[in-house]
Amino acid sequence: MAEIQLNHVYKKFDDGVTAVKNFTLDIQDRDFVVFVGPSGCGKSTTLRMIAGLEKISDGTLVIDGKKMNDVQSCDRDIAMVFQNYALYPHMTVAENMAYSLRLKHVPKKERRQKVEEVAKILGLEEVLDRKPAELSGGQKQRVAMGRAIVRQPKAFLMDEPLSNLDAKLRTQMRREIQKLYRELNSTFIYVTHDQTEAMTLGTKIVVMKAGEIQQIASPEMLYNEPANVFVAGFIGMPPMNFFRGRCQMRYEKVYVSTAGMQIELPPDMADRVKKKSELGKDVIIGVRPEDMLIADEGVESKVRVYEMLGSETYLYFDHDGGTVAVRTAADTPIRKGDRVHFNFRKDKIHLFDAQTEKRI
Ligand code: ATP
Repeated sequence: MAEIQLNHVYKKFDDGVTAVKNFTLDIQDRDFVVFVGPSGCGKSTTLRMIAGLEKISDGTLVIDGKKMNDVQSCDRDIAMVFQNYALYPHMTVAENMAYSLRLKHVPKKERRQKVEEVAKILGLEEVLDRKPAELSGGQKQRVAMGRAIVRQPKAFLMDEPLSNLDAKLRTQMRREIQKLYRELNSTFIYVTHDQTEAMTLGTKIVVMKAGEIQQIASPEMLYNEPANVFVAGFIGMPPMNFFRGRCQMRYEKVYVSTAGMQIELPPDMADRVKKKSELGKDVIIGVRPEDMLIADEGVESKVRVYEMLGSETYLYFDHDGGTVAVRTAADTPIRKGDRVHFNFRKDKIHLFDAQTEKRI
């Protein structure tokens, strides 16, 4: 069991930097929580506070009903896997993995049994007698994880564990972490700045910016209902397109005018616009590249970049000082320099208040 609660947690460093602000999160047993956000947004600091490697300046950390603010890291019963693996270079793989058990005075036979069991799960049986310097990056990463698994902690904390691996190995290790999560039936808290990792691994994703939580949601929810312009632009590749516009009512219907077009809003969105008093106000319209269309009418523009990816093609246009990305079929006859019209799937647009940048 591992239920972890952070209540209004702050981290202020001595030099005056407030790295984490008012962080409140409820982690349930067996959640796979991912902290994601741009560099410096406070992901690692939050993780380190949970691990007990960084002191909490204000607020409370509760693990399984017990306040943990002042409990030593080693007494929190959680294991941390670091980006740089932090293996002991003079010890063999087996010794590295057994280290925590030795500290707990677990008998040798039992230690060996446990290490072999975990080595099997991770495919490390062949390298148990090697030293870390004789391992590949992926193997080192597995040993670092093995060392954590052997301890059977309440929760696994991982700080960018895959960032030192090449793209192919990252994908492979990502799948292995997914498998481990299913097999170990444990709570995982994982830090990354990579949105693909966040979306594929997390059951609950925490998007952070400048020390503050922007949204806590499942991957689907994050993608389909981003809470604000920042989340909308951060999750999704190429990023969501944004257009300035204004909401108006005509003959009982709600329209948004943007890029010279009048778009009638679907009934549920129209209701929200009315309820949130957005009529007559400036709004930001968000449309994902896959929800854009090349059509007979819409905004006429010249294709500035043509990107054929095999399974699909992206067309990029200059518009209103920014870039608009449109996903289209791989076999599109359109090429760079062509003048075409782009348009939106009207039922797929996202609306945000222009001032608060919050979702309407
Ligand atoms: P990255 O993805 O680059 O690792 P992050 O989101 O994990 O970033 P943190 O490492 O948590 O960010 O840092 C958050 C902020 O706190 C940054 O502005 C960083 O400079 C600052 N910070 C981190 N550690 C310290 C420290 N020991 N003393 C002072 N400031 C710190």
